[in-house]
Amino acid sequence: MDLVEKLANERRARLAAERLLEQKKRELFKANQQLAVHARALSDQVVAQREGLQRAIGEAETLKGENVRAKGEVVAAQSAAQSAQRRLWQALETVPDGFAVFDGKMRLVVANRAYLQLFDGVEGIEPGMTYDMILKIFATEGIVDLEGMEPVDWHHEMVARVSLQQIPAKTMRLYNGQYVKLIDRRGEDGDLVCLVQDITPMIQREAELREARDAAESANRAKSAFLANMSHEIRTPMNGVVGMAELLCESDLSEEQRLYAETIKSSGEALLVIINDVLDYSKIEAEKMKLYPEPFDLERCIHEVLVLLQPSARDRGVRLLVDFDMFLPTRYIADPGRMRQVLTNLIGNAVKFTQEGHVLVRVVGAGTADGTQELHITVEDTGIGIAPEHIDHIFGEFNQVESQSNRKYEGTGLGLAITRQLIEMMGGSVWVESELGEGSCFGFKLLLPVAEEPLVETPAAPLNLRCALVVDDLLINRVILERQLQTYGMEVTLCRSGDEALRAVEEGGTGFDIVLTDHEMPDMNGLELAEKLRERGLEKPILLLSSNPDRAQDSPGKAAVAALLKKPILRSDLFRVLQEISGAVPEEPPKPARAAPPAPAPVERRQMRVLAAEDNRTNQLVFRKMVKEFDIELEFANNGREAVNLYQSFRPDLVFMDISMPEMDGREATRAIREIEATGGLARTPIVALTAHAMDGDSESIFAAGVDHYLTKPLKKAAIAERICAAATADCRPPATESETAAQ
Ligand code: ADP
Repeated sequence: MDLVEKLANERRARLAAERLLEQKKRELFKANQQLAVHARALSDQVVAQREGLQRAIGEAETLKGENVRAKGEVVAAQSAAQSAQRRLWQALETVPDGFAVFDGKMRLVVANRAYLQLFDGVEGIEPGMTYDMILKIFATEGIVDLEGMEPVDWHHEMVARVSLQQIPAKTMRLYNGQYVKLIDRRGEDGDLVCLVQDITPMIQREAELREARDAAESANRAKSAFLANMSHEIRTPMNGVVGMAELLCESDLSEEQRLYAETIKSSGEALLVIINDVLDYSKIEAEKMKLYPEPFDLERCIHEVLVLLQPSARDRGVRLLVDFDMFLPTRYIADPGRMRQVLTNLIGNAVKFTQEGHVLVRVVGAGTADGTQELHITVEDTGIGIAPEHIDHIFGEFNQVESQSNRKYEGTGLGLAITRQLIEMMGGSVWVESELGEGSCFGFKLLLPVAEEPLVETPAAPLNLRCALVVDDLLINRVILERQLQTYGMEVTLCRSGDEALRAVEEGGTGFDIVLTDHEMPDMNGLELAEKLRERGLEKPILLLSSNPDRAQDSPGKAAVAALLKKPILRSDLFRVLQEISGAVPEEPPKPARAAPPAPAPVERRQMRVLAAEDNRTNQLVFRKMVKEFDIELEFANNGREAVNLYQSFRPDLVFMDISMPEMDGREATRAIREIEATGGLARTPIVALTAHAMDGDSESIFAAGVDHYLTKPLKKAAIAERICAAATADCRPPATESETAAQ
């Protein structure tokens, strides 16, 4: 081989080697690259694993910490529970009450020292002992006063007690005089928790209170008896004083003497009002007050109260007005005396505390399904009013508003307290609204049974009267009259003064069928108006409404009026007068307080016989004088026995019977008379008791004895007259002429 060939071979071999090298290099590079990837992956894995490990180590650390804390908490809780238990136990040991717990099988679980002390040293009372055993120890060891029961019975009773669902408390007296109260409760899991309370101080206090109450009650009884006696003692001589003064006033007296006599009479009466207030109050306080409901006429009652108060109101120019709802019945069932007392108190106060303006009594009501009426009675005045700070106490006892404005008024301060109590006894309620300086409005509401068919229909209209002219300077009066006349179907024109009325007549010509005018009005009074109307040719009837009828009677203008009505006016009176004026047959209004109209007396009729039993000579004299105008034959008995004898020989038509008399009292005498009547088949003679006592216990026993009525001393002429007239029989002469009766 030549050199060239050799070189060529060598080059080829070198080139081949170089290519192989190149290839090996590439393979090495690739292998390196793969190695690097693996190495990186391996490194990442290592890092991740290291982090996981770190986290696991951290969590393990936390868990370890929590474990330690939880352990601490358990220890603390254990110690808190132990100290709570210790404290609870200390507390149970400290309380003076006995405390014990029995389990569901009624075995003692735990008992405090106070509980164990009950057993007074009896040994062996310890956990595990049964409730039954404990009861036996109580019963047999003389620990408990068994109040006369056999130990075995007592034990039975006590076992039965704890078997009840709701275990009643039980009071026991212990051997040492101590009183304990057992209070036992069942726990949810059947445990019995027992508490034994020492109630000795409470029992002692109760005994003391009972003693104090008994002492107070007997003092109160003594007070009531004292008051009853005092009332008798005061009323008997007062009867003489007031009665004689009344008679003296009726005799011929000089002006000065009349003043003296009237002062004696009014002072006596004022004293009696005070005594009555005090008595009523103590009666209510002692719960001795009783109500005697009977039918009565409410409108008439209000009217009578107003008539009594009229003079003092008139002196000051205060007008008394009544607005009795036209559609209300007037007769109700209630205690008339007490109703009158309530009305007198409220209206009397209104008049007393009003210097000018008016006092208006308003009665409205609504019927209920059961035939009763809910009545609202208000007494409104334009007087001094009551300050807001006093108004809440006004119905309390002895509460007089002490102020500059009312210092001059007299009173006991009991009136409203009695009024409130009476109204509440009647099932009603009372209220007041007032503004200082403006006036007051006292009101009360009552549910009363109606004593008559309700007045649903308008009363028959007066025949010839269609249009009325009403003249009054006071708006309320005009409104009241308008309403009353409208209910009779009349057309009403209202005028405020005489001048206005004259103009109305001129304008209306003779269109008015009747004129109703107030008497006392400013500028032109009612009588002057009547005269002027006559001068102008008005011929229709003129009705004068006057609160001072005496003055009207004496005035020259009286001839111009057809009739005179005394204010305040009763609806029934107004209606009657309108009927009379209109020519209709007058319908007599019911007159329960008056005698039957006297018939012309045939000559052969005898005198009415009246027997009066009265031991006191002065009172006999007063009585004789009071009835001297009556056509009666009067006999006196000096005691009950004489009364019974005279009843048989004298055969009276009416007996007045004093209750307190020597030898035989009025009750006994009445009983004896009733017996004579019963055995002899005689008609019942009316007996009217005369009593100085104002205590109800008396009136009950008086009625029980057979009395029909009773009058309280001091006697009033009018009340005696009323009873005499009411008892007049057909076979005797009327005891009083009509004018005498009307004058009462
Ligand atoms: P009194 O016997 O003093 O009138 P009351 O109990 O009837 O006793 O009244 C208590 C007080 O209430 C009165 O003293 C008065 O201060 C006040 N009062 C009662 N009615 C009225 C009234 N209509 N107007 C103003 N004050 C009144």
